[in-house]
Amino acid sequence: MDYKTDIEIAQENQMLPIFQVAEAAGIPEHYLEPYGRYKAKVDLSLLDSLADKPDGKLILVTAISPTPAGEGKTTTSVGLADAMHRIGKKVLLCLREPSLGPVFGIKGGAAGGGYAQVVPMEDINLHFTGDMHAIGAANNLLAAMLDNHIFQGNELQIDVRRITWKRCVDMNDRQLRVITDGLGGRVNGVPREDGFDITVASEIMAILCLSSSLADLKARLGRIVVGYTREDRPVTAGDLKAQGAMAALLKDALKPNLVQTLEHTPSFVHGGPFANIAHGCNSITATKTALKLADYVVTEAGFGADLGAEKFLDIKCRFGGLTPAAAVLVATVRALKHHGGVSKEHLGEENLPALKKGLPNLLHHLENLTNRYRLPVVVAINRFPQDTEAELALIREECAKLGASVALSEVWAKGSEGGVELAEAVLDAIDEKENRFSPLYGDDLSLKEKVETVACQVYGADGVDFTPAAAKELSRLETLGFGRFPVCMAKTQYSFSDDPAKLGWPKGFRITVRGAKVSAGAGFVVVLTGDIMTMPGLPKVPAAQSIDVDDTGKIIGLF
Ligand code: ADP
Ligand code: MG
Repeated sequence: MDYKTDIEIAQENQMLPIFQVAEAAGIPEHYLEPYGRYKAKVDLSLLDSLADKPDGKLILVTAISPTPAGEGKTTTSVGLADAMHRIGKKVLLCLREPSLGPVFGIKGGAAGGGYAQVVPMEDINLHFTGDMHAIGAANNLLAAMLDNHIFQGNELQIDVRRITWKRCVDMNDRQLRVITDGLGGRVNGVPREDGFDITVASEIMAILCLSSSLADLKARLGRIVVGYTREDRPVTAGDLKAQGAMAALLKDALKPNLVQTLEHTPSFVHGGPFANIAHGCNSITATKTALKLADYVVTEAGFGADLGAEKFLDIKCRFGGLTPAAAVLVATVRALKHHGGVSKEHLGEENLPALKKGLPNLLHHLENLTNRYRLPVVVAINRFPQDTEAELALIREECAKLGASVALSEVWAKGSEGGVELAEAVLDAIDEKENRFSPLYGDDLSLKEKVETVACQVYGADGVDFTPAAAKELSRLETLGFGRFPVCMAKTQYSFSDDPAKLGWPKGFRITVRGAKVSAGAGFVVVLTGDIMTMPGLPKVPAAQSIDVDDTGKIIGLF
């Protein structure tokens, strides 16, 4: 059977003018800043004006450990929001905005798929409202001011070998990972080793997503640590007097972007930090505004629940004072068979033994959300065309043994109609299941204890080994006053362990921590368990080769 591509489905859709979407969402026109006909930013003063309204219920969509087979968190989030809309609920969707780099790399959208997408998908996947460019400009302004300070005499005594601030660009460009710059003689700067990250890996992105207001944004920008002096004193963006100009560049980027789904459900698509060296969820401003406008807010966290949900719950909810009403755990037959050892080419064939072997991955994530975070949870089986009835039934049976709610989701193929079972299961779970949510650990634990808590409780590790360098860095960060921060774990997303080859539910492993770094503006300590890529490269055949625009300006070949 031939299926339409995501972009074909999106381009056939009749979008509503954005002011109509805003009106349906309850956003008065004077808070709306249209970017063309189908996109708008929403002024932050809207949130202040709604301060007295009670918050709606927040639903987190997360998933099993990712595999090359694809899980469909964004697709399920969009479909769930559309299904709630369909059954008459006042709902808003909150998603991350895609990075430009990966769009040109490996084929795969970030605006949902099939009949569960946010639109205009070409804009959302390409420049959108310019937030990424603003973040890149703010990041690079700080880099320029830092090197200029050193060039002009280095009053702050910055140690040129201990600069932690990098430049960034929103492109998959491995050529820029490690560079030497400032070459060319005395007038052309101070030679040093430097490098680029992709824009979404910049701490500015994490800061933008965690800031509650412009004043908070500016204060956080001022706290960014850019490097250290020879006496080991942190040097901040505030020391360079950069935070005001950076905030000026970011003032519009901080405002949530409003778009719609294919079925006109209002959607905020705003902010998109990496889920390894940052916390991987959309902005607090968008989530908080949505909670004031709607009775239900559906949102997504990156990667699997061990990383994305853990950070959503332990970082974003901690900082934002948020309590989710329920979590949806997305699983697919294909991905579970992959966890059971089936290679990518054979995922289309029914294989009950492999499915059974892979299921513990789902069960462990389920147990974490239910028992560690004490949230109502619904397992959503995201149905792919090749899935067989026997396979779907097996997942239901195994989850039912644990007393879990399970719903089949067919939103990719059918839109909201395919999500009604899931929407009803989520509403039931919110009403009937116990919710005693709190973050996993308190601020008072040491940084090492926080890492051990996450590793042993969420990953199921037997313990944590800190390399001498990592142990030293963690205690140094505590001495510098960062000990009360939550930890932001940078670990492979493919396994509960730090070894991407250990699929399913691995047991009897330890986690090795190799380094740590403070994101003082964002307010967390990044803990590194391996080499984490902060500047992706392009594959042998980049998706860019098939993306084009016709003579009328219509984009083609984008997924
Ligand atoms: P995630 O958010 O977990 O990364 P997405 O929702 O972006 O996943 O989906 C990844 C890809 O898989 C998209 O191209 C989407 O169209 C496709 N996809 C998702 N669900 C299904 C499904 N049920 N059937 C077929 N393709 C799907
Ligand atoms: Mg996604």
